[in-house]
Amino acid sequence: MARHKKKSLFTRKKVSKRKPTTKIGIPADSEWKSLAQFGSFLVDDDEGNQHKFNLNETAFILPPGLLPDQKHHPTAYWIGRIKEIRARNPEDVCLAQPRNYLRSLTQVWALVQWFWSPHEVATVIKSFDVSNCGQYERIYSDYHDYVSTASFCDHATVKSYDERSLDQEPFDDDYFFRRYDLEYRARRIFPNVSKSACICGVSYNPDRDQVMHFCSRPTCCLAFHQECLLMYKQYESSTAARARRLLECWPDTDKRLSVETLIRRGKGSGYSMSDPLHEFPEELLQTAQQQIVKGVQAGGVVGNVRSVVAARRLIYKTLIEGSTLPIDWMSQVDVDTAIHLQDEGFSVYLCPECQSAI
Ligand SMILES: [Zn+2]
Ligand SMILES: [Zn+2]
Repeated sequence: MARHKKKSLFTRKKVSKRKPTTKIGIPADSEWKSLAQFGSFLVDDDEGNQHKFNLNETAFILPPGLLPDQKHHPTAYWIGRIKEIRARNPEDVCLAQPRNYLRSLTQVWALVQWFWSPHEVATVIKSFDVSNCGQYERIYSDYHDYVSTASFCDHATVKSYDERSLDQEPFDDDYFFRRYDLEYRARRIFPNVSKSACICGVSYNPDRDQVMHFCSRPTCCLAFHQECLLMYKQYESSTAARARRLLECWPDTDKRLSVETLIRRGKGSGYSMSDPLHEFPEELLQTAQQQIVKGVQAGGVVGNVRSVVAARRLIYKTLIEGSTLPIDWMSQVDVDTAIHLQDEGFSVYLCPECQSAI
């Protein structure tokens, strides 16, 4: 979509430069700097309601060819962030004139920083593989255009998704999200796609991949396709102490520290060594002992990373400090995100990087 847009914008820009006095087309850069700046603008909908858009808000923008009086699937719209707002004939805004009159005289424009679709990115970076992107995925570019505010349709939300973050906020599967940025002139994607890819070299597609297993060790923070772990024999046949081994994949350290070692190293001499974990609430333990997963069959786009990591961290901190669990621990751990996989009885998967149970 953007390629068509950019082509037509470029052509129209050149026309308006040749006829600078007509002031009907897209502003030239020189004219843009001379226009009055505003912090917000209003758009009327079909029913006469006014919608206010502010600087730095993100919006759906109608591409050429889509009829404004029809509803389209959200993915049919362009998405951009409003960086500046300027107007031609701004004095007319203040006059209580019929809407058509205002529209004809007043032209409000926004400088928009675009979110690109994966297909658009692939037109400028041949190696960018759209098959590994979700349908709601957008790539935040450093590419800007002047856009008439008459094309603005609605407010949009694009969630930031850091695949390697242990504290990623979950969001629903039909939210737009962004995990990469595009540097347009350099034709570069940040962060490097390969940095978060599975051992197969393929990155996570939340619309396609059924179950991804995540290793929460500080130097890993990577997710792997379940089928790749099986294919590369990254699992143990023994199910002994499965829950304990998952719990001991601590997000706080790369060292292999058992619960008992943590207590010995810390100040937790008050624990009953027969099973120190008995001291913890069952809901907290169950959360900490889950596999960390995400995917179509495993908790959606983001999965249970944050809640399981938070539970393991609380237990780790309590054990090594010899302290008691905070009274408000439930405000730190979402215990309702238990994800029960169909293969719950399966043996332990191993992280291909660090061999921890995942
Ligand atoms: Zn893989
Ligand atoms: Zn690992």
